[in-house]
Amino acid sequence: MKRAAAEKVSAALAPASESRQAVARQAVLFAPGDLRLCDFTPPRPGPGEILLRVKCALSCGTDLKTYRRGHPMWRLPTPFGHEFAGVVVETGEGVAGFKAGDELMAAPTAPCEECFYCRRGQENLCPQAMEKMVMGGYADFLLLPAHVVARNAFRKPPALAFEEAALLEPLSCVVHAQALARPESVESVLIIGAGAFGLLHMLALRAAGVREVAVAGRGADRLRWAGQLGADRVIDIAAGDPAAEVARINGGFGPDLVIECTGQVEGWRDAFARVRRGGRVVFFGGCAAGTALEVDTRRMHYDNLTLIAPFHFRPRDVRRAYELLAEGRLGAGRIINARRPLAEIGAVFEMLERGTVLKCAVIP
Ligand SMILES: [Zn+2]
Ligand SMILES: [Zn+2]
Repeated sequence: MKRAAAEKVSAALAPASESRQAVARQAVLFAPGDLRLCDFTPPRPGPGEILLRVKCALSCGTDLKTYRRGHPMWRLPTPFGHEFAGVVVETGEGVAGFKAGDELMAAPTAPCEECFYCRRGQENLCPQAMEKMVMGGYADFLLLPAHVVARNAFRKPPALAFEEAALLEPLSCVVHAQALARPESVESVLIIGAGAFGLLHMLALRAAGVREVAVAGRGADRLRWAGQLGADRVIDIAAGDPAAEVARINGGFGPDLVIECTGQVEGWRDAFARVRRGGRVVFFGGCAAGTALEVDTRRMHYDNLTLIAPFHFRPRDVRRAYELLAEGRLGAGRIINARRPLAEIGAVFEMLERGTVLKCAVIP
């Protein structure tokens, strides 16, 4: 992927079209904590590819983790940022669905549709999804590869703001998880973790019409936002007796479904402990490598628990997430609570480190 990009840089020395700058900016993560804005030449799109002028990129918990300690799937240095929306500048040969000037939203990955997992409908596990992930959203321009253009790119509805459209990737993860968890209208759901993913889950559950959504988390700001965005019950994990409060859900039976969004083993343990007999647990937040969860076999079997650990998303989830955003019923844009220009990308990550922002829109 790196080499392909380098080849395109030389090909792009031809006179730039009026909407394509000869030199543009792109944020590159060189090492943990070392994020720099670099000059780069926007490449000419090859067959099936699209050159996008980025209108908005969103910060993501995965970015913050990678900024702190690197990422097992991505080699450094790497262009950075994977949640984005923008305007088509130029299309490569054979691109049928888009033309210059179209407003576009896309997931940063797409499966091959040919491998072992894809043939079994588990495209989320397709090796290509992670290996060929689009990176470089924090930039003026971004090249979308052919596999993403063909499978996971959409025309942005005019009424949808670019920053809300850029939520397509995280919302696809949420939709996938809820497709496996199948929440019912009579059910009470507990979400553990009041970060951006926890609140996206809450908004999606609200739209799906479950009976009650409780959000358990920590931090006065986050808990206040959870309430403002529509949580029926907000539980402060750091105060009082949160376990007793959760146990009162469903008239004392406990939550039907627990969705764990902290990515901490402690949260996974809590999720397993708090769900009602016969309930389901979704382990949504991935934990650090080398951690383990011990499961009480008596509880697992005699309480008839269902444990679900969804990873990533499938094209059908991306399509559903796109529909939810296009319908505008979620009001998902409300979780974006900071905006900064691309020139301040370094300061954005310092701000994210302080933990006061759910999602920050980075505007080129
Ligand atoms: Zn993300
Ligand atoms: Zn595949």
